[in-house]
Amino acid sequence: MKRILVTGGAGFIGSHLCKRLVEEGNEVICLDNFFTGSKKNVKNLLDYDNFELIRHDVTKEINLEIDQIYNLACPASPPHYQYNPIKTAKTSVMGAINMLGLAKRVHARILQASTSEVYGDPEVHPQPESYRGCVNPIGIRSCYDEGKRMAETLFFDYYRQHGLDIKVIRIFNTYGPNMHPEDGRVVSNFIVQALKGEDITVYGDGSQTRSFCYVDDLIEGMYRMMNSRDGFTGPVNLGNPGEYTILELAEKVIKLTGSKSEIIRMPLPSDDPAQRRPAIDLAGKELNWKPHIMLEDGLGRTIDYFREVVEA
Ligand code: NAD
Ligand code: UDP
Repeated sequence: MKRILVTGGAGFIGSHLCKRLVEEGNEVICLDNFFTGSKKNVKNLLDYDNFELIRHDVTKEINLEIDQIYNLACPASPPHYQYNPIKTAKTSVMGAINMLGLAKRVHARILQASTSEVYGDPEVHPQPESYRGCVNPIGIRSCYDEGKRMAETLFFDYYRQHGLDIKVIRIFNTYGPNMHPEDGRVVSNFIVQALKGEDITVYGDGSQTRSFCYVDDLIEGMYRMMNSRDGFTGPVNLGNPGEYTILELAEKVIKLTGSKSEIIRMPLPSDDPAQRRPAIDLAGKELNWKPHIMLEDGLGRTIDYFREVVEA
């Protein structure tokens, strides 16, 4: 069994990852500053002897003895990462430098949770890993997009310059239990609005598309990437290629919740990508991975989770 550090481990994806790694018997250290994550997400793990929770900010150095690092620390929803954009950029860039430095000192394998946002508002569709993207460097999404791009650059420079054992995944829109109910992302917004009988807020005309991956599928892909063959660095896309317009998503959520909510239109935020869908051939070839959970099924599980949250 391994000693594994998960930064951002108390967040949505991190909490599912910690659970998987703890249940497998690894010694797991969850590091988080609780900006968007919460102790509640990992409270079921606190009883395990092989789980530890540390309040720490990745923009500061830390020394730990570990074999693997999953670097997830970074707010992921647009309202959260735009709340303090300078801090978001620091978290991505200084967090990457600190975690890469740690990996170098203790010879740990390190995985970066990068994002489909490195493709920006893509002109190539679907997006393969070879596509270099169309990113605005000075817009309201840039602190996140460019921060994540710089983090990828740092990972590959540490790989080339110091021979670090790196793994880079590009995560496409992922959803599921443990998302923050006020996170601001589309799936959690629509489900919470539908369950409360509030208006469903579609930004723009709702024709923009996203591809939604259920969190369990993502965790399996992340795990396979971390444990993939020596020398396979990625970047590798992880996401579900099923592509839906935001309007279609709104209609599905209304149907699955049986809600009487109405759809209303709100202004489209600037630089909102018009389309997004992962090409996942590389993940299939290298990791023998593909997602299995269909949107209706994953939404059903997520609705069950939010019903409890909303009623609590
Ligand atoms: P999240 O906001 O739920 O989790 C992020 C976690 O990082 C939170 O627990 C937060 O408190 C913590 N954090 C933020 N800044 C920190 C700092 N400076 N120091 C320590 N901890 C800090 O988001 P998530 O959806 O779980 O995303 C996890 C990772 O996956 C992020 O890096 C995100 O960019 C990436 N990602 C997620 C998606 C998605 O659809 N969920 C898509 C692409 C990439
Ligand atoms: N969106 C929306 N209503 C909401 C929240 C989001 O229509 O209440 C749209 C948003 O404009 C974007 C898509 O849904 O086109 C996905 O938004 P999210 O913030 O979940 O992720 P991202 O834009 O980073 O993919």
